[in-house]
Amino acid sequence: MNHKKWLDKTVQMAVDNVKNGGGPFAAIVVKDGKIIGSGTNLVHQHNDPSAHAELLAIREACAELGSTNLSSAILYASGEPCPMCLGAAYWASVGNIYYACSKNEALQHANFSNPLAAYFPDQEKAPEDRQIPFIQISTNGALTPFHEWNKRNNE
Ligand SMILES: [Zn+2]
Repeated sequence: MNHKKWLDKTVQMAVDNVKNGGGPFAAIVVKDGKIIGSGTNLVHQHNDPSAHAELLAIREACAELGSTNLSSAILYASGEPCPMCLGAAYWASVGNIYYACSKNEALQHANFSNPLAAYFPDQEKAPEDRQIPFIQISTNGALTPFHEWNKRNNE
């Protein structure tokens, strides 16, 4: 299983999403080597605070499978999932979660104004203490969506 390949895909999706006016995050759900759900951050385009990439990817994957059980699937996210998306992952019994950049890296590298900074007010368990394996793999380009984001917002 090439986790970096899938993470690279989410990072590229996040870059493209910023270029299309969305937020700097993307996610996919993969089962048996196939993408069964994908999403990008559409919070501001849809005025929907729940339109996070991971949540949309989980919704699409569940619709695709006709089930709310994603225990045999993997969630890949360009950025560390927030508590809302982590909650959705638990409700969907997601098998594993991999992400490319941590929330601290996102906060350090992106100029988020409120309420975007409110994405990260969580004080949940440390990643290693969680029931669902929650593993960061730093990929080349994992921070590129934030560079694109900053570029767009400085224009
Ligand atoms: Zn989220």
